[in-house]
Amino acid sequence: MTDGSAGAAEGARFDTIVAGGEVVDPGAGFLGALDVAITDGRVVTVEAGLDRRRAAETIDAAGLIVTPGLVDLHTHAYWGVTYWGIEPDPVSARTGVTTWLDVGSAGAYSFPGFRRYVAEASRTRVFALLNLSSIGLIAPSWEFANPDYWDVDLAATMVEANPDLVLGIKARIDRNTTRGVGIRPLELARELADRVGLPLMAHIGSGPPSLDEVAELLRPGDILTHCYTGGDMRILGQDDVPHAAIRALQARGLVLDVGHGGGSFSYDVAEKLLAHNVLPDAISSDIHQMSVQGPMFDLPTTLSKFLNLGMSLPDVIERATARPAAAMHRPDLGTLRPGSRADLALFRLEEGDYTFHDVGMVARTGTKRLVNTLTLIDGKILPRTPERELAPWAALPAHQRR
Ligand SMILES: [Zn+2]
Repeated sequence: MTDGSAGAAEGARFDTIVAGGEVVDPGAGFLGALDVAITDGRVVTVEAGLDRRRAAETIDAAGLIVTPGLVDLHTHAYWGVTYWGIEPDPVSARTGVTTWLDVGSAGAYSFPGFRRYVAEASRTRVFALLNLSSIGLIAPSWEFANPDYWDVDLAATMVEANPDLVLGIKARIDRNTTRGVGIRPLELARELADRVGLPLMAHIGSGPPSLDEVAELLRPGDILTHCYTGGDMRILGQDDVPHAAIRALQARGLVLDVGHGGGSFSYDVAEKLLAHNVLPDAISSDIHQMSVQGPMFDLPTTLSKFLNLGMSLPDVIERATARPAAAMHRPDLGTLRPGSRADLALFRLEEGDYTFHDVGMVARTGTKRLVNTLTLIDGKILPRTPERELAPWAALPAHQRR
């Protein structure tokens, strides 16, 4: 330090101060007009009225919402190898999502490529749930139709060899993924998750199997994704009553995850479940080759739908930061707590008249919209770069083409 005496008088110096914004980090308890100081890629302090002269660089966040980098609990990031995958960094830079949990794109046979070409090649933090199916999501469906791909031993070996990246197990359970083999793949996914001691994420849609069969195999700490699906495995029963077993499991710690995607978010189901106080524990995008074209678009748009369904901004942000990070057993992510990695997102909370759609193109109007303006990872701005062209097979279903 060349100016030691001045430094002591003014306090420590920082690389960057994100100044003048409205911080919304409910997980860490930071809410209000606060500045965020960053040095060496980590948050040093979050406090009001920091002297801007103490930083080499100031990012002016006046009029903006400042949150931890968003954590998306349901994504598909395995571009070029799987049917669904898209490249994370260009999307992260325009959405504020700094941590992507890829859920089941890779199975045991394709996980080494996921590590090298996706996780290690991205500035975005990309983690994975390993698919029980050894082939993962190379193709749109049928990953469990061939029992030769249900290799619990091989999957366990792959999980144990990659503890830094694999945070759980994924199984898609619906009539298209299982093609007549019943609930057996979920039983094996349960066995695998128990063996490696990690959470299990089950996807639901239209059965068979039934939601009753799925519920029997879920435990507290597991994740049920597509919780507002309009498919016949929906967690809303006859007479619009929430499924009792799922509701009881949620009370004991089952994580209900939105996973909007291209076919898994129904306004009708969401509104009825919210009216019964069945709230999502995580609001995720299920972003992929199709859903990125709309009506899902991206995580900020999905969060905006829940703002306009009546949830508060802190409640919505918590479900895309601290809560999904906790579900991943990575409480070091999705937080501005001093000492954590300086992943931040800046948003404009726009007011106007907006129309949003669910996957059936049912419309709802709203007055609020979150728009990302800047994204930082490790304290550095993630530059906006062009997104790759969509795959030749990435056509939206006819009813979603607008
Ligand atoms: Zn998905």
